[in-house]
Amino acid sequence: MLSNSKSVALLIAAAVSIITTSFLSLVNGVPAGGLIVVFVLSFSSTYILTYFTVDVFIFGQIEKINNRITRMKAEDFSFVEEDNKAASGNPLTKINREILTYARTKQQEIDELRKAESFRREFIADISHELKTPIFAAQGFVHTLLDGAVKDKNVRNKFLKKAAKSLDGLDRIVQDLLTISQVETGVIKMELENFNINELIQEVYDQFEGKAEKKDIELKFDDFCPTDLYVFADRHKIFQVILNLVSNSIKYRKEEQTFVIASLVEHEREVEVILKDNGIGISEKHIARIFERFYRIDKSRSREKGGTGLGLSIVKHILEAHQSHIMVQSKQNQGSEFSFKLQKGRPYNWSREG
Ligand code: ADP
Repeated sequence: MLSNSKSVALLIAAAVSIITTSFLSLVNGVPAGGLIVVFVLSFSSTYILTYFTVDVFIFGQIEKINNRITRMKAEDFSFVEEDNKAASGNPLTKINREILTYARTKQQEIDELRKAESFRREFIADISHELKTPIFAAQGFVHTLLDGAVKDKNVRNKFLKKAAKSLDGLDRIVQDLLTISQVETGVIKMELENFNINELIQEVYDQFEGKAEKKDIELKFDDFCPTDLYVFADRHKIFQVILNLVSNSIKYRKEEQTFVIASLVEHEREVEVILKDNGIGISEKHIARIFERFYRIDKSRSREKGGTGLGLSIVKHILEAHQSHIMVQSKQNQGSEFSFKLQKGRPYNWSREG
């Protein structure tokens, strides 16, 4: 059968040269030598032309298709890097290009699955490690009490308080993880509404009132901050974002007069919220990683202050669910500035008053 380009070329060349020579032999006066020359010429030129055409455009492309399908079966998608720019109307080239596009999509899917798998593994390792610490601590105190310490009233109270503190820490981790997973999976729907962002920041400040009074901490608005700006966002979740940021500014303060200053900048369609502190700051090498789950610069300080290592991850997720993102500028020992933008809103009674 016609299994390669040579046999196809041979057959077509023989047919063309026989037909051409036969037609020519019907013309009177053509010598036998001339017929032979015509036969040889038409045979060789048709053979060469057909051979190259069939080999390059048909068998070559089929070979490529076959080769790519075989590699795809073996889950080898490395050929997606190959250049396939050859512009051609040849349908086989088009099929080849389709295969390449399909393989590229598959390769991307495989890469994403691999990334997700490694992320899942890392996450399980991190979470086990984080849960282990408070569980072990609480377990230790309870067992010591059971082993006899319970009889001593002073030790009993002290150990019970310590066990309770560890369990509170555990509860905070679980609550934070729940928030992240709910925002990420979209279980909790965004409840977007118009609200006054100045008021919301003040509400967060009020939460820290007691602590601020005791510890020389000033929570204020920038002198030039516009008042009564409205945003269109999920009020409850933005409260959590600002709460986490202000709480961090307080947790990571220096041993001196601390301030947190809120500024609002009105853009054409958005309102930018900026929170600035004069805390311990974050060095450049850590900045890119502070939004990762469980990433802490100083683990003991974070734990001691009740941190879960999830606060900024929650901030990032909530803002992403608002199609926004968190920005940070910080200098070690000088302080940090976190900012994000929200869609501009309208006062509640806007529609009634026009
Ligand atoms: P944590 O529960 O440890 O506070 P976060 O996710 O809120 O976790 O923050 C991650 C890390 O980023 C913190 O452990 C801290 O080292 C650093 N950080 C966050 N906010 C500030 C800030 N305002 N000033 C200095 N360091 C900060």
